[in-house]
This record gives sequence, structure tokens and C-alpha cells, in this order.
Amino acid sequence: MRVLITGGAGFIGSHLCDRFLRDGHRVVAMDNLITGSQDNIAHLAGNRSFEFIYHDVSNFIHVPGSVDAVLHFASPASPLDYLRYPIQTLKVGALGTHNALGHALAKGARFLLASTSEVYGDPLEHPQAESYAGNVDPVGPRGVYDEAKRYAEALVMAYHRQHQMDTRIVRIFNTYGPRMRLDDGRVVPNFIGQAIRGEALTVYGDGSQTRSFQYIDDLVEGVVRLLRSDFVEPVNIGTTREISILDLAKIVNRVADNRAAIVYADGSRIDGDPQTRRPDTSRAREALNWRPKVELEHGLEWTLDYFRSVLGHAR
Ligand code: UDP
Repeated sequence: MRVLITGGAGFIGSHLCDRFLRDGHRVVAMDNLITGSQDNIAHLAGNRSFEFIYHDVSNFIHVPGSVDAVLHFASPASPLDYLRYPIQTLKVGALGTHNALGHALAKGARFLLASTSEVYGDPLEHPQAESYAGNVDPVGPRGVYDEAKRYAEALVMAYHRQHQMDTRIVRIFNTYGPRMRLDDGRVVPNFIGQAIRGEALTVYGDGSQTRSFQYIDDLVEGVVRLLRSDFVEPVNIGTTREISILDLAKIVNRVADNRAAIVYADGSRIDGDPQTRRPDTSRAREALNWRPKVELEHGLEWTLDYFRSVLGHAR
């Protein structure tokens, strides 16, 4: 296959590039580098199966030659990033998805949308199954991301229904691993950066809010399986191990051997911070025979090693 990956220089996108290349496919990565980085794909320079196109997918997309699959992963994804780029976030979810779908239609390609657990908002149903329609505040600060992804899902289904396009939707739950930006503001890079520097870990709110953290390799495997499947309805990909942010802080301090304290930094909290989040992954298990394999403690160690090497700290 020749695969177009929008957001290909991002955290998840670059891991997808690696995986598809490893599986023997040709990859075209497209990115405008506002939150992605060429560092994430620098190791692919010179690989003849790999191309990079610097382009903002909110504008018309053109890739010469055949394209068999379009994976639409372009978007700011960290709350700090989408607050910094609220209009670009709405545009890439709306116009970017439209352009990516139009390109897939023109090429006769299969299409996969990177959606998000944020479509469930601050959920009133727990755990969240794909049938849950969510609790999103359209005018809250997170609305720019949540509503863009909800619109993107609607657009994908419209292309599927109107054009019989072969489409997939993955709803990605919190994912961490190497190539996250240390300054992207999300909890794992924040905590790991603080722990490496021997600083106190900043817990927003009282730390009782929960998330379920999956390692990047597990997500990539889920995306590959979904693309290969014939499952058109959205599929949650995430781990069912749910932990509080306070517990995450304790685990990071333990794994990183950081003696510094945990402090409460409520002022940095973003309104509408979901109180709970855990996927119901029955669909992924049944339709894709997928389940996550990496234990949080191991994944955090590997991520810590990555950030240490980025920062030039010896272990
Ligand atoms: N958080 C925190 N300290 C930080 C960064 C984030 O306590 O330094 C909290 C944040 O308020 C949220 C959770 O960690 O409750 C996960 O935040 P993140 O930005 O990683 O992603 P989200 O799941 O909210 O999109």
C-alpha cells in the first residue's frame, strides 16, 4: 500500500509512519509542523519508501500518484496546544477532515479518522462505550477540539453513507510514549520532565480525576488492526486500567526515583477537565481481537529513558 498519514510528524503520526514502513508499505507523511516536529521523522530521511510533504491540510490536499489509505491524524491534541491554536484546531478537524476525505475519495482510498475520547466530554456514563453520545460543552475551552472531532466523525459517516466510502473511526484514549513534546502540557510529559529535573510534580485540582493511560505501541497496533478490519462504526482504543492523577504522580516519582514532593497547582487547570475517563473496549476486543499489552510502569520507564536522552541526562 501507499499510505498518506496527515500529522505524520506528530507523536502518534510518526509512530504510524514507522509501523507502516516496517510492514513493507510506502508512506507519505504530511504535516504543517505547528505541533509536530521533523525530529520525529529525522531517522526516516533517506528511506526511499518515505516522503514528507510540508503542508497544512486545512488547505486543499494534493498528493501525486496512487494512495491506498489516508490516515487523518493531523491536529493539535494536547489541551495546552489546542487552547494556543483554537482556530487551527477547529479548521483541521473540519476543513482538514473534509480535504482528507475528498482526497481519499479522489484516490479511491480507504480512510481512517483519528478521533478521541474527548467526544465523550466530561462523561456521565462510566466506562464510556461507543454508544455513549457524550457530554460536551460546545462553548467551553475544550469545545474547539471536542466539537471539531465530533464534526469530523459526522463528516466521515456522511462520506461513508453518501459515497459508500470505506471508512474507519478510532476513538483514542490518553496515550503516552516517546516523541511526546516535553512542553506539550499533558500530564505524562509534565510529570516526567519535573521528575527528571528533581522538581515537585504539579497535580491540577485535587488529583482525584482519573484517566486510563495506554502506551503508544498498543495504540498503533489497534489502529493497524482497525484499518485492516471492515468495522465502520467508531472503536475505542485505550487501556481499561484507570488511575487517579494523584496516583499517576506517585507512580512517576517512584519510577523516576524522584524524592521531590507532589504539589497542587489548581490555577493551571483547564475548565471542563473531565473528572473520569475509562474506555469500554469490548468492541475492540471482539471486532479486532485487540487488547493493550504494555504495563503502565514499563511504558513510563521507556518514556522516561526517551526524555532523559532528549534532555541529555545520564541515567
Ligand atoms: N494534569 C495535572 N498536572 C499537569 C498536567 C495535567 O494534574 O501537570 C491533569 C489535568 O488537569 C487532567 C489530567 O492531568 O486532569 C490529564 O491531562 P492531560 O492534559 O494529559 O490530558 P486530558 O486527558 O485532560 O486531555
